[in-house]
Amino acid sequence: MQKIVTLKPFVHITSSAPIAVETHGGRAKCLQRLIRLGLPVPTTVALSFETVHRIAAGALPDTRSILNEFGAAPLVSVRPSSEDPDWGGPGAILNIGMNDDRHAALSETLGARAATKLYLRFIQAYAVHVARLDPDMFDVPEAPDATALRHVMDIYAEETDEAFPQDPAAQLAEVLRSMARAWEGTTARLLRQAKGAPADAGLGLVVQRMALGLGPAESGAGVMQFVDSATGRRQITGRYRSQSQSRDALKKRKGALYLTRDPRGESLEDRCPEVFAELVRHGETCREKLREEMQLEFTIEAGELRVLDALRAPRSGRAAVRIAVSLAEDGVIPREEAVLRIEPRALTELLHPQIDPEAKRDMVARGIPASPGAARGKIVFSATAAQASESRDEPCILVRRETAPEDIRGMHAAHGILTERGGMTSHAAVIARGLGLPCVVGVSGVAIDDRKKVLTTAEGRSFREGDEITLDGGTGEVLAGAVPMLEPSLDETFQELLSWADAVRDIGIRANADSPSEARLARSFRAQGIGLCRTEHMFFEDDRLTVMREMIFADTPEDRQATLDQLLPMQRADFVELFEIMQGLPVCIRLFDPPLHEFLPSERSAMRDLAESLDLPIAEVTRRVDQLSEFNPMLGMRGVRLGITVPEIYEMQARAIFEATVEASRRGDPVVPEIMIPLVSANREVELVKTRIDGVAAAVRNQTGAEFDYRLGVMAETPRACLRADEIAQHATFLSFGTNDLTQMTYGLSRDDAGRFMSDYVNQGVFAEDPFHMLDVDGVGELLKMGAERARATMPDIVLSICGEHAGNTESIAFCRAAGFDYVSCSPFRVPVVRLAAAHLALRAPRTAD
Ligand code: PEP
Ligand code: MG
Repeated sequence: MQKIVTLKPFVHITSSAPIAVETHGGRAKCLQRLIRLGLPVPTTVALSFETVHRIAAGALPDTRSILNEFGAAPLVSVRPSSEDPDWGGPGAILNIGMNDDRHAALSETLGARAATKLYLRFIQAYAVHVARLDPDMFDVPEAPDATALRHVMDIYAEETDEAFPQDPAAQLAEVLRSMARAWEGTTARLLRQAKGAPADAGLGLVVQRMALGLGPAESGAGVMQFVDSATGRRQITGRYRSQSQSRDALKKRKGALYLTRDPRGESLEDRCPEVFAELVRHGETCREKLREEMQLEFTIEAGELRVLDALRAPRSGRAAVRIAVSLAEDGVIPREEAVLRIEPRALTELLHPQIDPEAKRDMVARGIPASPGAARGKIVFSATAAQASESRDEPCILVRRETAPEDIRGMHAAHGILTERGGMTSHAAVIARGLGLPCVVGVSGVAIDDRKKVLTTAEGRSFREGDEITLDGGTGEVLAGAVPMLEPSLDETFQELLSWADAVRDIGIRANADSPSEARLARSFRAQGIGLCRTEHMFFEDDRLTVMREMIFADTPEDRQATLDQLLPMQRADFVELFEIMQGLPVCIRLFDPPLHEFLPSERSAMRDLAESLDLPIAEVTRRVDQLSEFNPMLGMRGVRLGITVPEIYEMQARAIFEATVEASRRGDPVVPEIMIPLVSANREVELVKTRIDGVAAAVRNQTGAEFDYRLGVMAETPRACLRADEIAQHATFLSFGTNDLTQMTYGLSRDDAGRFMSDYVNQGVFAEDPFHMLDVDGVGELLKMGAERARATMPDIVLSICGEHAGNTESIAFCRAAGFDYVSCSPFRVPVVRLAAAHLALRAPRTAD
């Protein structure tokens, strides 16, 4: 026996009815708002979350009294009304109440064909969604006639052992029950939880009188919105299907009219100018009062307009920005709200090419999504092949087991990068993010044979050099073939929104940039300076690599000095260019960091070239390369350790920086360079380097007769640097936390090899997230806080920042802001995202004045 709920389980929606999003859902609340605004909404009642929950548990409400709200013999629809429309819900069911009697009556007023079509549609929806029968058996036939109707009635009876229900109250009861149960099912719950819904999110239902859009005078149904969903520009778009238009137009456009006047054919505006004007007016009212661009679902019944529903107009990321800016510019919403309406992550879609969401995806492998955007091109297996491809103007994807510094030119030439090994901070990932190239790393399961030039997937599919593939750097998917793309789009509204974000954010944002093109990009994204210029990248240009190798192989200090003298003007020119591009904004230059052996050739042909240029036997070159190799180079002779043991390198770099400072300051804005020492772990390292750099500064002042200042800082990227930050900070004006190395050393986890097992670790819950991607607030974060506090204890004015890859991650910025950091420095393409994320933080949790 079914229990009948005695409390009135529904509310007739009027302008004063007690309806709230939290109890009845967004759709019910929105319909009430439309009623308040005077829109012609058909009679609607709302069932609360509580009622629907009870229905799912088996307690059906008295559906006869619900139907009584709609007058005699109504047809009604039922639609879901969850708290957030994005959480989804069961599909709407229309025309409830259709039965043999209604069919006969409507055949009189609307004609047999229209009435039968309605009945068939209802039977189909009921059979599929309520009786859960196979949809294929209930296709609505081309000719909706009495035979077709009998046919589906027979199938229904055969499949369910009962006749199609004729009592509207019983029909409604079953519809409500099936929708309530569908919401409570496990699959639906997991799907909505993935979209951010709480586990116990409720469902409301709205029952509405059907406004059929059928009849003798102008009748039809449509949707209209007032912005273009792709661009966000104000423009009327949508569709309207008329039931009563000329045969000609019917044939041409399958019953659809143009909405606005159109030379190509009949339009709603021509045929029903008053209804059209009324819709436009309602669109304006909604925009102003609901403070949103809405899409109106409407019918016209014998010339009279009914608005059945209004939804937030669907929009691309680019359209969302334009809509938010336009609402703020028109004074409908404050600028701050426009800023908050755009998810920072959504900006990525505007900054990089994306795979067309409509495109078919033939996924062949998956890796770590290391740099966003999508790229397609022909596979190449070496940097040289990538360069050759570029010279032929052929887009290519560089496929490597892992990349090394000598691949840099090939990486520049490629459109995307795929590596079998590596994680979020491996060489390929860091460089690709800097260049804005889509990149997928740690694609475990594929086998790359460089010699045979073939990539084989776990399923055994082979791709040869020249075969086309597509990378999705946002999801880590590798797809076969060249998949259609959408181009990025940055327009003035994007810049406008970000300038509003800048006005409220309270943490600085700089970019990591090593080359003039990255510096220009940083400026165009309005970074407030360069927070990390990795100078070693400057030595991989062809003309410098050879000199660099000669320097490494020099036997005597004189020989070494001679090669460094050759590098000096090149470095000076690099810095002059960077200073000029940045026009007086701070530029933080990190002294040479990597182990020297990274500059040595690994391939036989490169060894031979080097032997030729040094006039040495190849065996001698191989011997020296072996001599320089270390068991664990990332923990070996690199960074400041090299600066102390081979001091000429840092001296040359300091001289290049100071001479460039003098030159750039003479020509343009005054420059105060920032010099950063990498891999520090002891106070004495800073003292030694500082003394030498001060000496170089004095010499350059003497030689040029020019005065200049500079700031010396420390890169805190070893655990000891954080622990001893109080003494290390004594000689520094700034401390920048290098969270890539710091994560590597805190976990004892190689940043270049972690990709191999990271997915297992994350899948089994050992790490909640890849710590190279998401800052490990509990462990690495503890060291950052400790470092910051200890540094400030001795040097209260010291400038604190973070320049590891985590700086571009919106979650880490909250941490840095809470820890009182002055700025974050991330790859240029992340700058816009971080500007917006920082503004969200400032708006959501304003700092209180001390
Ligand atoms: C770091 O270690 O966090 C860093 C920024 O430096 P790199 O990635 O060059 O080692
Ligand atoms: Mg580092």
